[in-house]
Amino acid sequence: MQPIEMYPQPPGTPQLDTVAVIYTGGTIGMCKNQDGQYAPDPDYLVHTMRNTPLFKHHDLPKYHVMSIPPLLDSASMNIDDWVRIARTIESLYDLYLGFVVIHGTDTLAYTASILSFILVNLRKPVVITGSQLPLCECYSDGYFNLVGAIRATTWNINEVCVYFNNKLMRGNRVQKYSAWAIDAFDTASIEPLAIQGTDLKLNKHVISSMTPVWPTQVTSTKLTVTTPCKDIAITTLYPGFQPKLLRAFIGFRGLVIQAFGTGNGPSTLEFLSELQNLHLNGCVIVVVTQTHTGLVNLGQYEAASTLRSAGCISGYCMTSEAAFCKLSYLCGLGLNQEQVEQSFGQVLRGEFDTVECEGY
Ligand code: ASP
Repeated sequence: MQPIEMYPQPPGTPQLDTVAVIYTGGTIGMCKNQDGQYAPDPDYLVHTMRNTPLFKHHDLPKYHVMSIPPLLDSASMNIDDWVRIARTIESLYDLYLGFVVIHGTDTLAYTASILSFILVNLRKPVVITGSQLPLCECYSDGYFNLVGAIRATTWNINEVCVYFNNKLMRGNRVQKYSAWAIDAFDTASIEPLAIQGTDLKLNKHVISSMTPVWPTQVTSTKLTVTTPCKDIAITTLYPGFQPKLLRAFIGFRGLVIQAFGTGNGPSTLEFLSELQNLHLNGCVIVVVTQTHTGLVNLGQYEAASTLRSAGCISGYCMTSEAAFCKLSYLCGLGLNQEQVEQSFGQVLRGEFDTVECEGY
């Protein structure tokens, strides 16, 4: 990690009233290459922040910008990159008021989810942002997203969040909904934590109502980072899904199945036996819905009973991204299959609601 810009303080004097802005890449700071395609540019974002009055506005907290090289298109990110971001936050944790992570939008929902789990005992804000259009375009959404994310670190919401298009959202609930719209992210299962209109609306009931259900979150005052497991996968059911495809996941610790509707799949013996085999081989199999809203209920239809009798567990209203990252986090703790299955059903970081999911 290299500090690449210190504004407005002189270098080398981080203080607890200062925000660390950690730049990992993404469209926001990209420029067009010779072929006219957007590609990461090491200087453009900092150059723009330095030369645009908006980023020096007196209402912003002090901040330091630093990067994690190489800057990446988030489509190229992997679990090692997530750990690098988490470790950077850990190394700066005692020095800064909060953290902004500048990130590509394509896999931002995954990064937001994994950070919410592996940053254990987090008591400071971590706000992730990016943009649909780079700062080099005159109508870029990156200006307001970045300024908004820096401001959001002062709102006393001490969890991993995403700031995008004037909304502050719980990180492990977000999904990228649009490759085109400026309002690209949303959280289907929960209201935003805050909305910036002509003034700020804090949804206090959302922020505080979730806090008591995170018993495992704050166990000490020290932030620690756990290492997520890489042997986790996601697969989608579709009409005609060939059960033998499940054999590819033997040896994996976890699999997220994006099932139909409320968690349904084919009621065939072949599907059942491949699933059972996978489960017997130690894989934790979580069922989420491939729809954007609604809950998995493995008891509602006969078509879900194959999944249930094979040992699959419900992902409730969790996003695929959150389910994948939660599995990766839990398997990374060294728990056995049964322990992972048991812990998976508990709310660890506000990633689903117990009230909404009762009975499922
Ligand atoms: N491909 C880019 C990325 O995820 C898209 C973006 O940032 O909007 O890094």
